[in-house]
Amino acid sequence: MTTSIGLQDDIKSVLIDRDRIAARVRELGREIAADLEADAQRAPGDEHAGEIILVPILTGSIIFVADLIRGMPLKMRIRVLSVTSYAGATTQSKEATLASEIPPDLAGKHVLIVDDILDSGKTIRLVRELIQTQQPASVRACVLLRKTIPEALATPCDYIGFDIPDEFVVGAGLDYDGYYRNLPDLCTLRPEVL
Ligand code: 5GP
Ligand code: MG
Repeated sequence: MTTSIGLQDDIKSVLIDRDRIAARVRELGREIAADLEADAQRAPGDEHAGEIILVPILTGSIIFVADLIRGMPLKMRIRVLSVTSYAGATTQSKEATLASEIPPDLAGKHVLIVDDILDSGKTIRLVRELIQTQQPASVRACVLLRKTIPEALATPCDYIGFDIPDEFVVGAGLDYDGYYRNLPDLCTLRPEVL
């Protein structure tokens, strides 16, 4: 594994460039905001009923969620969640484990889970299941990317930015061994880097 100071040397190819990502994230923001707005009619007498809570999954979703929420002109709260699956220098998805507390106050709220990529589906399934136990008014999931593999396609997910081939990708928030999240484009890495 080599780590260089410059990022560009490690890139094999650009799969989706920053302009396409930005355009699609704007579209998604508009779509999701319209759906949530239609849902989130406050119940009279309860100021917190029907509130919108975004649950971004760290760390991969940070870039995506930052862009997404700025295109969603709704009153919302954000409660981040930490799930580990690809820890360290690996390109293999492992069992998803919760590494932080599920926010405890989701009953009656409209919850939107936000993650970077849907791969085996373990992360989204786990988080959705745990959130459901609190009986929120609704739970939706949104990912920037979905791999076109059977497990991912079989995982319920309400909003998908892009379907991509089954390749290990970095950039746009996604990492390899903690690096490359700040690449503006979604890229594949040269094999000698992995
Ligand atoms: P799942 O639980 O669906 O298998 O995996 C979801 C998590 O695995 C994502 O949140 C992401 O952190 C990581 N992951 C899955 N595929 C990729 C990939 O191609 N590149 C990177 N960098 N991370 C991935
Ligand atoms: Mg992740």
